[in-house]
Amino acid sequence: MSISEVDVSPTADPLDNPIASTDQEVWRLIRAEQERQEHTLELIASENHASRAVMAAMGTCLTNKYAEGYPGARYYGGCKFVDGIEDHARDRAKKLFGCAHANVQPHSGAQANAAAFFALLNPGDTFASLVLADGGHLSHGMKINLSGKYYKPVHYPLRYDQDADGYEQIDFDAVRTVCREHKPKMILCGYSAYPRTIDFARFREIADECGALLMADIAHIAGLVAAGVHPSPFPHCDIVTTTTHKTLRGPRGGMILTNDEQIAKKVDKAVFPGLQGGPLMHVIAAKAVCFNEALQPAFKAYAKQVAANAKALAGALVEKGYRLVSGGTDTHLMLVDLRARNADVTGVDAEHWLEAAGIITNKNGVPQDPRPPRVTSGLRLGTPATTTRGLTEPQMGQLADWIDRIVASGGDEKVTREVREQVVGLCKQYPIAH
Ligand SMILES: *Cc1c(COP(=O)(O)O)cnc(C)c1O
Repeated sequence: MSISEVDVSPTADPLDNPIASTDQEVWRLIRAEQERQEHTLELIASENHASRAVMAAMGTCLTNKYAEGYPGARYYGGCKFVDGIEDHARDRAKKLFGCAHANVQPHSGAQANAAAFFALLNPGDTFASLVLADGGHLSHGMKINLSGKYYKPVHYPLRYDQDADGYEQIDFDAVRTVCREHKPKMILCGYSAYPRTIDFARFREIADECGALLMADIAHIAGLVAAGVHPSPFPHCDIVTTTTHKTLRGPRGGMILTNDEQIAKKVDKAVFPGLQGGPLMHVIAAKAVCFNEALQPAFKAYAKQVAANAKALAGALVEKGYRLVSGGTDTHLMLVDLRARNADVTGVDAEHWLEAAGIITNKNGVPQDPRPPRVTSGLRLGTPATTTRGLTEPQMGQLADWIDRIVASGGDEKVTREVREQVVGLCKQYPIAH
């Protein structure tokens, strides 16, 4: 659909939004994006479809309120109701993750990580994280990121030995070697493109051996952790950061959790006034709504289905001749190495071809990828969003068929048109619940 075809009448909007009558330019683009989300299949592993209640909380008068500080200790008057909101968000977060302290103010996952570093490290301190090209996040020590400029990252690689058990999985011997050599003040685990269960207890052993703090960044797997589909980082980790918008299906935002009272105090100071000013109270309200949703039995079933769908999609792709990094998935995501299917197809090609057919993915480097990051040999696929709209295992087989038809045809126009029509048909059968 082109932008001029979008229905911008006020009644076309399920959220009943007044922008329709105040700002046609922005309204048209919002409606176009809404149509795009409705009629494409979202396989980007870090995305999801938040509930109408979560989105509604973000569109409230709470955005008008300044509430620097924390509940009961604010720098502004008029905070009695937003205090209640932040209290609910924190209490629900603690219940959801089974921990003693929660800071719900970080504006995003990267902000949460910056605050965790600011709280626990001094400039120039060493920390250990996964080789970024093996599935890490830019806030874990990329050279041009704050984490790489103000601190000293050292990296542990995945297991690269093809004949070894645990090929392309966390190599705890390598973690130990890197930590013995560099004596990091903190060890980071938790990743952006790693499809396997993280063994927090084994990281704890190594952290204890070298006297390091242990930080888990569960940005991707938070929803699975909350539902018990992935093991909890507690009690093993000293500090846990996360986003709230990925598998947790809340508003775009971040959060920091800990069981340690001293660390909690440092974190609160680091977030405000160390790093941020006024908290986004409308987003914190949406976090509270999201956490309440995630505490319901239905969310457990959702998270289980997310993992079951990922297994089904992974299995169907392997049957068609694709190779999966680490050989499979335990979580919501998989990293597809396209070279096994066709040595000439790149990640960037596949991403573009699939998008033309209404299947939204992102190119992603595979471990030791010979191609540069703008090209890559891989695709990262995740099931959180399609599971939210109700797809189950049979449709995962269908999705694998479509992906393979497109990739095998080299983005052929006729094949793309046929798949696009079928994708729209499936989207109409499984609308995003508004
Ligand atoms: C997505 C992600 C983040 C960053 O989240 P933003 O909200 O985009 O800043 C941090 N860490 C990991 C591991 C992630 O995957």
